[in-house]
Amino acid sequence: VIEIGQPEHSVVTTCAYCGVGCTFKAEMRGEEVVRMVPYKDGKANRGHSCVKGRFAWGYTNHKERILKPMIRERIEDPWREVSWDEAFSFAATKMRSIQEKYGRDAIGGITSSRCTNEETYLVQKLIRAGFGNNNVDTCARVCHSPTGYGLSQTFGTSAGTQDFDSVENTDVAMIIGANPASAHPVFASRLKKRLRQGAKLIVIDPRRTEMVESPHVKALHLPLMPGTNVAVVTALAHVIVTEGLVNEAFVRERCDWSEFEEWAAFVAQPKNSPEATAILTGVDPKDLREAARIYATGGNGAIYYGLGVTEHSQGSTTVIAIANLAMATGNIGRPGVGVNPLRGQNNVQGSCDMGSFPHELPGYRHISGDAVRDQFEALWNVKLNPEPGLRIPNMFDAAIEGTFMGIYVQGEDILQSDPNTKHVVAALSAMECVIVHDLFLNETANYAHVFLPGSSFLEKDGTFTNAERRIQRVRKVMTPKNGLADWEVTIGLAKAMGLDMHYNHPSEIMDEIAALTPTFAGVSYAKLDELGSVQWPCNEKAPEGTPVMHIDGFVRGKGKFVVTEYIATDERTGPRFPLLLTTGRILSQYNVGAQTRRTENVVWHAEDRLEIHPHDAEQRGVRDGDWVRLQSRAGETTLRAEITDRVAPGVVYTTFHHPDTQANVITTDYSDWATNCPEYKVTAVQISPSNGP
Ligand code: SF4
Repeated sequence: VIEIGQPEHSVVTTCAYCGVGCTFKAEMRGEEVVRMVPYKDGKANRGHSCVKGRFAWGYTNHKERILKPMIRERIEDPWREVSWDEAFSFAATKMRSIQEKYGRDAIGGITSSRCTNEETYLVQKLIRAGFGNNNVDTCARVCHSPTGYGLSQTFGTSAGTQDFDSVENTDVAMIIGANPASAHPVFASRLKKRLRQGAKLIVIDPRRTEMVESPHVKALHLPLMPGTNVAVVTALAHVIVTEGLVNEAFVRERCDWSEFEEWAAFVAQPKNSPEATAILTGVDPKDLREAARIYATGGNGAIYYGLGVTEHSQGSTTVIAIANLAMATGNIGRPGVGVNPLRGQNNVQGSCDMGSFPHELPGYRHISGDAVRDQFEALWNVKLNPEPGLRIPNMFDAAIEGTFMGIYVQGEDILQSDPNTKHVVAALSAMECVIVHDLFLNETANYAHVFLPGSSFLEKDGTFTNAERRIQRVRKVMTPKNGLADWEVTIGLAKAMGLDMHYNHPSEIMDEIAALTPTFAGVSYAKLDELGSVQWPCNEKAPEGTPVMHIDGFVRGKGKFVVTEYIATDERTGPRFPLLLTTGRILSQYNVGAQTRRTENVVWHAEDRLEIHPHDAEQRGVRDGDWVRLQSRAGETTLRAEITDRVAPGVVYTTFHHPDTQANVITTDYSDWATNCPEYKVTAVQISPSNGP
């Protein structure tokens, strides 16, 4: 970190990395950040931070940042720097000509979970009101879309149920498919503090994560085989039902009893017992029984889960199974309990809330609802299309079929982050207009015709919504280096497309969101400045927000139990691909590393490695630090091996922070049955020694 003298003033703003949403004081000297100091009054972080938020803002000044709009007719041509107006006009002309040639539905866009609520709201408005279709999706498609589906089905709303403060009342924490020590470090610290006070920890994960290995914390670790979440969670339910551990009073009062009875009869079947599922899941039945008893009888039980739950062909089923478990034990509706998705990106909750799905307007209201559409049509002064649009994978398929030919990608490197890279390349190559709006010339930009430079979180006003539904201010501390904040860029494009969009400041966009979205009805910048933050729903009934949901009743009325039959993924091991690959993150890097790799701190530039069990390594003649070739049915890559018993025999693990690794070259096309969330966490692979890339 380069420190530039003493600060002259400070501004409170919100971290742009993970879904914890830590607030910081940006201590400034003129337009230069001197340092980022964790804000003691920040309600999500309580004065704490991790290395990413504290030190990894240097990318805003990185020499590779693109500050001028660029265009080119064909992707083989060199980029040409142009004015903003020329870039907007070029992009709009191309998109309109695609619509004339291929039809209204031949274009669409992807909103960014790294941008503010106001900015994602504007992109979905541009698509619905300007493009005239609902071909809008978000990167939540590839991470937490099963959370949206699963929690909506069971509880009636797609959000996590608790605030982070709730952990201080938790007696039993069950972490499923998440490693908060790496991915949500400040929340992990708060949880560890509670564990040191005596709360119990159950970790369901194929890998012995840092949470399991934490000193002073004794965890019960259930190291399941990747892809068997539903079988494991249903086996826990089997124990709870067959050993009489159901909280019957809660279920009778708060849930639909007949659906509960159907579910209970299903989970009680012998095929769902820990013993019957042991060979499949790889988990010791004794540990499964112990975990179920601890969760059901140990006091306040809270479940925290991550992408190890959602990024599976049964991601939505697992979310439903988790919700069933919480309802059956009465662990909903008070501090210390709940079902808590740990959101990966800083504003993935917000981008979903803001209507970034092809079937939902802001506030999770279905586009087919006449009354809801009427409300938006009246304010936006347009006629809206009632038909749901295309999801991201459908956009790619349609591009290859020649019916989807133009895309606006806001702050997302879809080439690096979406599965089956070859397929994404084929789709982007087929399109006639790819507009990339980003800080850097990312991998997707190799296939773009228009590059619109993005602004960092330090250069704009707005709000982010963290994993606990907490809406917090992002405050501009410097002038946008590219000349326009992201919300102004979208407005420029919208105007060039003929859509009348006028806002003087993001607060006016929030006022419009509040007018159209019942869960945001009480939100304003004035209130956020006064209270520091609010958790939605924030409206007449809850003017200061809602830290804990479902206290008096579920949003949908009665909680809904749903039968969760385990269905094995089609991605199978076999003689050619005998190992299962799963993926995760390290503390110091963030997602595909676009920002964290562009910091000054070289020690952060650790490469992605392949963790392999000593037994599997020995069988293949692989030593620690050797280069290995990692092959799947979809593709192959090369990376160094790290021999460790953190993973079980038959399982290998890697991270995906570096573009050289290209982990998604080897992931498959399988996806969640309900939402198309890709199955990143299970890939059958083979490993062989290599001389390097
Ligand atoms: Fe907090 Fe997450 Fe930012 Fe770290 S990356 S400072 S935990 S919000």
